[in-house]
Amino acid sequence: NRVWRLETRPEGTADENNLKLIEEPLAEPGEGELLLRVVYLSLDPTNRIWMSDMDQYMEPVQIGAPMRGLIAGQVVKSNTSRFSEGELVMGAGHWADYMITDGKGLSSLGKPGAVPLAEIFGMCAVVGPTAYFGLLDICDPKPGETVVVTAAAGGVGSVVGQIAKMKGARAVGIAGSNEKCKWIKDECGYDAAINYKSEDVGAMLDRYCPEGVDVLFENVGGWIMDEVLARMNNFSRMALCGLISQYNAKEPVPGPYNFQQILMHRIKVQGFIASDYAKDYPKAIGELSSWMREGKLKFRLDIDKGLENALTSLNKLYDGSNQGKLMIEVSEV
Ligand code: NDP
Repeated sequence: NRVWRLETRPEGTADENNLKLIEEPLAEPGEGELLLRVVYLSLDPTNRIWMSDMDQYMEPVQIGAPMRGLIAGQVVKSNTSRFSEGELVMGAGHWADYMITDGKGLSSLGKPGAVPLAEIFGMCAVVGPTAYFGLLDICDPKPGETVVVTAAAGGVGSVVGQIAKMKGARAVGIAGSNEKCKWIKDECGYDAAINYKSEDVGAMLDRYCPEGVDVLFENVGGWIMDEVLARMNNFSRMALCGLISQYNAKEPVPGPYNFQQILMHRIKVQGFIASDYAKDYPKAIGELSSWMREGKLKFRLDIDKGLENALTSLNKLYDGSNQGKLMIEVSEV
């Protein structure tokens, strides 16, 4: 069994000195436990946060421990009545070929073939509920309002824009390439897209948000967030979902420089973590999966093969080379 273990804490981008893939004998599950074969491993920007010993929303991964990740897996052996052999599950897991768990935090996806596994895992494990609750619960967009989304072509961002459109709002996305901008406009229905690497973001926001910004779904932070903050309307709302531009920073990041806008324009700003809404997940997952089935929700999966590539693949999230929801196919169903 191969297991990625956290050997040292990264400073800046995580590399092979920080995480090591180690070959180990496979243990037997004890009473009440399951042996899972990992099929998909979700790679998420927050994985980098978990590697750091900083104040965060859950315990950091301990030195020497298996790297934590969301997984979809198949039950190989079950010593509990809650899950049966052959069943597919998703939830909290490890960067590993196989893992032993007591099943806490896992939900069943039925027998193989019951659902399109990659799509349902990719959408429902985290990015879909994040987009759904962050936008609808915190920002409550109204018809005709302007919603700006940063990292708009990513797993979360691409879903946020589409839900905003379903609610009758205008959606303006900010992303890092012309291809991503084209995709969110042509496929996801964004009204406008700004390439922050080649365009003047402030000038483009003025052009595409002539009435100002009512909702900001923030995934990035830093100077891009400051440009949007400068254009937010009275009583506008901001869901602070992520700050990906800072996750690899070696020093504390200064700013935001337009913080005073929150006072001047009475902006509601709320940080959130998707799992805060865990008890309402079935509602979100039901709605997201029916939108997918009806073809109303476009979604791109970026699936790399091989557990050994997990670390290289993770770093695609921080240079923008992922094209949609990033995951690793660890084994075939
Ligand atoms: P994405 O698929 O959006 O991938 C990350 C994207 O972020 C990259 O493709 C890149 O796109 C963009 N990016 C990376 N670095 C920078 C930078 N320095 N400046 C601007 N853009 C950058 O990942 P996810 O959809 O999984 O996550 C998106 C955000 O949502 C993250 O901030 C993540 O932490 C957050 N999140 C929060 C959750 C919560 O519960 N609060 C749950 C899940 C995710 P580009 O090419 O456009 O630069």
